[in-house]
Amino acid sequence: SEREVHAGRQEEDAGEAAFRPQSLSDFTGQKTSRENLSVFIQAARQRGEALDHVLLHGPPGLGKTTLAQIVSRELGVGFRATSGPVIQRAGDLAAILTNLQARDVLFIDEIHRLQPAIEEILYPAMEDFQLDLIIGEGPAARSVRIDLPPFTLVAATTRAGLLATPLRDRFGIPLRLVFYTTEELCQIVARGAGKLGVALSSEAVEEIARRARGTPRIAGRLLRRVRDFAAVASSDGKPVSREVADMALRRLEVDALGLDAMDRRYLRRIADYHHGGPVGVETLAAALAEARDTLEDVIEPYLIQEGLVMRTSRGRMLGERGWLHLGLTPPARPEG
Ligand code: ADP
Repeated sequence: SEREVHAGRQEEDAGEAAFRPQSLSDFTGQKTSRENLSVFIQAARQRGEALDHVLLHGPPGLGKTTLAQIVSRELGVGFRATSGPVIQRAGDLAAILTNLQARDVLFIDEIHRLQPAIEEILYPAMEDFQLDLIIGEGPAARSVRIDLPPFTLVAATTRAGLLATPLRDRFGIPLRLVFYTTEELCQIVARGAGKLGVALSSEAVEEIARRARGTPRIAGRLLRRVRDFAAVASSDGKPVSREVADMALRRLEVDALGLDAMDRRYLRRIADYHHGGPVGVETLAAALAEARDTLEDVIEPYLIQEGLVMRTSRGRMLGERGWLHLGLTPPARPEG
């Protein structure tokens, strides 16, 4: 189940699509990003121009794809989606760009995984809506310039720091998504329960929200699993209680803080093998048989925000809360 919960953080599962809010006013949380977008969208509409390019960055599952779709809907334009690793050849990108209609939204997920050669093609496309292509080979090769319709690139990345500076600088509207508060997640879970037709007590809603790692995608997944357990556990027609929600979450190995088995393995590793650190991220990745990127993009951001782990120049260290969460005593701190 460790694999299931973790791998699932990045991948869409079947029930997810029904969950997506359809408009900015439906979209809970991310107040600053939402307010900014709303102003820029309105201004672009009034001028009848393409919206400036938008860069969304933040951990997986916080709503980047959802916001990109909402942007196109609010602009009343078409939506095309692709992702960095999918675009292998210059021709792939050229085909997408030349098929856009004026003012369309092109969404590129995982833009940090674009190949440098493809990035080079993207620059003039973003800046001047022009595509420079080399046609043919050898002495017969010639370059052609194609005019593109003005479009809006909405790109998503887990870390803005992974982008080359010239690429990052071409986004007029950079937005950072943050983890959601329990209150915001309560609203999202309650709304999702309504859509699924599950009756949840307000305590059960809160239990799921508190344990969703600040992430709507995880909240949605936990909700669907709680629904399954509840259907089996009782058929008395009463709303799902906190006890049933808690039982279901514990069966999924989601603990009181919302950490899953992988999070706890990560914390345990630092405590048991490195006396609380500091330990380099590469060492941890090798020991846990995880990609370094997965640790940095998926696992660590929440643990760091919650004070369980600290990122120092010499490596990762267990924070005081990390020790306590494992039921261990933090080592005495040196004076001063
Ligand atoms: P990302 O692209 O950042 O990985 P997604 O946009 O795919 O995340 O969102 C993951 C899931 O969480 C989707 O099912 C989406 O509907 C839901 N979701 C994300 N943000 C919100 C939100 N603010 N309100 C309600 N549901 C949300």
